[in-house]
Amino acid sequence: MREFTYVGQPTHVVFGSGTVKLVADQIRALGARRALVLSTRGHEPQARELAASLGELAVDVFPGAVMHTPVTVTEQAVEVLRRTNADCVVALGGGSTIGLGKAIAVRTDVPQVAVPTTYAGSEMTDILGETRDGAKATQRGPAILPERVVYDVDLTLSLPASLSVTSGLNAMAHAVEALYAADTNPMIALMAEEGVRAFAASLPAIVTDPADRDARSDAFYGAWLCGLCLGSVSMALHHKLCHTLGGMFNLPHAETHAILLPHAMAYNASAAPEAMRRMARALGADDAVVGLTDLVIRLNAPRALRDLDMPRDGIDAAVAAALKSPYKNPRPLQEAPLRELIARAWEGAPPADTEVDRP
Ligand code: NAD
Repeated sequence: MREFTYVGQPTHVVFGSGTVKLVADQIRALGARRALVLSTRGHEPQARELAASLGELAVDVFPGAVMHTPVTVTEQAVEVLRRTNADCVVALGGGSTIGLGKAIAVRTDVPQVAVPTTYAGSEMTDILGETRDGAKATQRGPAILPERVVYDVDLTLSLPASLSVTSGLNAMAHAVEALYAADTNPMIALMAEEGVRAFAASLPAIVTDPADRDARSDAFYGAWLCGLCLGSVSMALHHKLCHTLGGMFNLPHAETHAILLPHAMAYNASAAPEAMRRMARALGADDAVVGLTDLVIRLNAPRALRDLDMPRDGIDAAVAAALKSPYKNPRPLQEAPLRELIARAWEGAPPADTEVDRP
């Protein structure tokens, strides 16, 4: 007997090539006339170009977005928004810039147009993580979810192969955990499987040729689906571990996801057979964990937490922190297997109980 709850998302999504020229239409459709364009310093030229193309619809550019959405930066941006009388934000960039747009929206209730340039998927969620004095706090709410999202595949052509791989694996992690989430549903399972399939097919092609537009289109499509998964159902062991380890040892977000994902899947595999069957099918493999580990190796993705400078003597503290706050996970959290998981990920060893044993 199936039992589920499904809630559809109200985000209006435009997807294609050259779609950045449709940002003006999105601003007008929101009833806004004065956009503040947001970016990181690195993306400032593209943000200024976008603002210039918007003409009178853009009142200013705030190029100060940084990782982890510090409240101090948000306060500066809100100040600019108020001074310029802006009535919406356009966030052009990855999860950091989109996070800033959300942080502004939750304080001012201005509508958002998100124009993502990575595969992180933040644009499809109502989740905001912010840092104040180094401590991270996460909140959810309707004002956080961007009203309009414009996916322009052309903007991803500049994403280097290595960043594309880690960003793509980060996105796939949302789909993996959506498949075995306690509150998953048939619609999300379809999206999750298709998201993983799209990435598994496209990432190897992007590594071979980062300018392959069809592969870029497939990967961005996967990013949309995986972002929807993250925004729709609850995450489990993998995300909690990434959050815990990232916070404790200041590890980079996407790389940490890429390293831990095969290990978290292996931990949960025996307790989530249907999710593993779907993952294996999406990966075109007999076994989901082996299929994903093979993909990670083929993509030359990072595989060891020690390469991210996590100290070996941090493993015990990480296990203790991971066990501290309980949450729903297909397989109960147990100290010894959890320690083995983290130790293997630290070392770059294959996931537990898999046949994969290669350099
Ligand atoms: P990011 O936005 O910091 O971008 C990573 C790097 O890639 C930056 O140096 C950026 O300048 C560069 N970059 C971005 N697009 C590029 C492009 N097209 N070409 C070349 N370089 C480009 O990081 P991210 O990986 O996109 O996102 C990670 C952040 O987003 C984390 O802080 C994470 O917590 C957050 N996140 C939040 C959610 C959510 O739902 N709230 C979801 C996923 C990620």
